[in-house]
Amino acid sequence: MEKKKICLCVGHGKNAWGRYDPGAVSKDQKYHEHRIAKKIAKYAADYLGCDLINHDGSLCLSERIKAVNAGSYDFAADIHLNAGGGTGTEVYYYHGSPTGKRAAEEICRSISETMGVKNRGAKVRLNSSGRDYFGFIRQTKPCAVLIETVFIDCESDLAKVKTEEGCKKCGIAIGKALEKALYTGAKK
Ligand SMILES: [Zn+2]
Repeated sequence: MEKKKICLCVGHGKNAWGRYDPGAVSKDQKYHEHRIAKKIAKYAADYLGCDLINHDGSLCLSERIKAVNAGSYDFAADIHLNAGGGTGTEVYYYHGSPTGKRAAEEICRSISETMGVKNRGAKVRLNSSGRDYFGFIRQTKPCAVLIETVFIDCESDLAKVKTEEGCKKCGIAIGKALEKALYTGAKK
């Protein structure tokens, strides 16, 4: 089976007006979603040997989507941290995509088991017109998922990705999950 061409993308970094977009921040304001996501994404991309988009935080969302669509990828994953008072890991996938669902389930399982956090599962989120809610999933050509690794506003979740070692563990967990879902016997 041919290897699928994957790209990983770091969430946030720059907003539509060209300013720094930290994404969500920890309760003490010390930790920024973008900064943690970029470390995790780097370890995952190194593990897979795949392209990494927006590691320097220089692209806003529409530019990140454009970069993904210019790359003839088979699969794209956008890496984030969650916020809003929950705990654990969840992954959104393009509705109706079996490959997206399988990858999302593998990533959830891998992060949950490796990091010791709750598995909130693979999810689909649609907007009021019945299309995928997240622009990164809706507007990208390849099959796309959006990974909400852990909650930045949950102390016990944050503790697992505060350190370089924690980011490495999480990144490799994502890499291994994608390798399993996309490189071994995966069907279109
Ligand atoms: Zn985010």
